[in-house]
Amino acid sequence: MSCAVNSGMYDVIVIGGGPAGLAAALAAREAGAQRVLILERDGELGGILNQCIHNGFGLHYFKEELTGPEYAGRFIARLAGTGIEVRLNTMVLDITRDRQVCAVSRQYGCQMLQSRAIVLAMGCRERTRGAIGIPGTRPAGIFTAGTAQRYVNMEGYMVGRRVLILGSGDIGLIMARRMTLEGAKVLACIEVMPYSGGLNRNIVQCLQDFDIPLYLSHTIVDIRGERRVEKAVVARVDEHRRPIPGTEIGFDCDTILLSVGLIPENELTRTAGIPLDGRTKGAYVYENMETRAPGIFACGNVVHVHDLVDYVTAESQRAGAAAARFAAGARAEGPALTVENGAGVSYTVPQAIRPAAAGKGVDIFFRVRAVYSGDLRIVAESGGAPLAAFRREHLAPGEMEHITLPKALLDKAAGSITMRIEEVHS
Ligand SMILES: Cc1cc2nc3c(=O)[nH]c(=O)nc-3n(C[C@H](O)[C@H](O)[C@H](O)COP(=O)(O)OP(=O)(O)OC[C@H]3O[C@@H](n4cnc5c(N)ncnc54)[C@H](O)[C@@H]3O)c2cc1C
Repeated sequence: MSCAVNSGMYDVIVIGGGPAGLAAALAAREAGAQRVLILERDGELGGILNQCIHNGFGLHYFKEELTGPEYAGRFIARLAGTGIEVRLNTMVLDITRDRQVCAVSRQYGCQMLQSRAIVLAMGCRERTRGAIGIPGTRPAGIFTAGTAQRYVNMEGYMVGRRVLILGSGDIGLIMARRMTLEGAKVLACIEVMPYSGGLNRNIVQCLQDFDIPLYLSHTIVDIRGERRVEKAVVARVDEHRRPIPGTEIGFDCDTILLSVGLIPENELTRTAGIPLDGRTKGAYVYENMETRAPGIFACGNVVHVHDLVDYVTAESQRAGAAAARFAAGARAEGPALTVENGAGVSYTVPQAIRPAAAGKGVDIFFRVRAVYSGDLRIVAESGGAPLAAFRREHLAPGEMEHITLPKALLDKAAGSITMRIEEVHS
């Protein structure tokens, strides 16, 4: 790297000033890190929460319903008097495995920073039309739902009047309601899977309460329009997600919002050679959120896409405290158990656990592959023998799940732990 400014040695540098970065920086400071720095490319702290003006944040952490800016604001207020340094409008371009950070800003120019530990908290980004290859012309009026949310909620632009939403992830559902409240007609939400990708509470509060139809097992097969979108053609799909000829429905619309998935913002992680998990598309992490590069930790949506910010906060506090301990010379060591996907589980975080470093136990977060209901068990097993089973009545891919494995059970495991879903038939 060939950057110029050198600011001395930091204990912990946090990349990203969203809820993950804020919680990690505060926890690092509380755990004794002296020099903590947050680098944020935007002009303000808060990350994606700044554009989420709806409520529903903080139910677990604060036991209150807050808006996104209110939730972020509480953490930003806690920075005062901590001595945590913040550089805004600062884009991190590169990191190395020996914990150098290259960043650039108008105020400081090109900065080469050295830290004892780094926390990656860069969030995620949305999949676009190009990522899913929708056929048709290329007119104006097609936005990702998050971009539309920023235009409407932060920049004050109304993006359209007759709107079709493709994908039923949470951002799409929230924007269906938002566009309706702003006076647009939301014609439908179209979902290729036989179930919604969003939280059940958002289906009820954002679609059903506003009589917006949800077409499951449907997709857009054609977009028409010269300068601006004029029509979208939607068709039913079969079990292989192939459109079924003869089932087409035309929607006269001027706007299409895409809510077709989020991907961890992992360019810095990848270019530093930090191993990624193909299932989450984020870094592979241990129980304390350390990546496979010693001293580099990761938390929040850059690790895996969360649906609730409260879990982002808890995970990031773990990462920040562990980064502070690393900076002070402590090392999390010991043989690692890998955590594997069994039947019905699509990913787990963490992907590996070092029982010797696990404290009282470890929270394992995961998503399931399909919608399950009835008498269900989440089973954690090792060497073919069950370690623990947790009862549930409903599991869905749109709702992140978690279990806690106490240290005593981790000590009984050998080599790996497999997580699987079992349907109990009486
Ligand atoms: C539309 C939407 C609605 C949601 N609704 C809810 C809800 O109702 N309730 C709820 O609990 N949760 C909700 N969530 C989830 C929650 O908001 C997210 O899980 C949480 O904000 C993720 O936090 P983060 O810090 O990981 O990422 P972000 O908030 O995305 O923050 C990442 C930060 O990193 C910065 N950054 C990235 N790359 C760099 C770089 N190279 N250099 C410097 N800075 C960089 C970005 O600018 C950004 O500020 C919602 C999320 C979205 C997107």
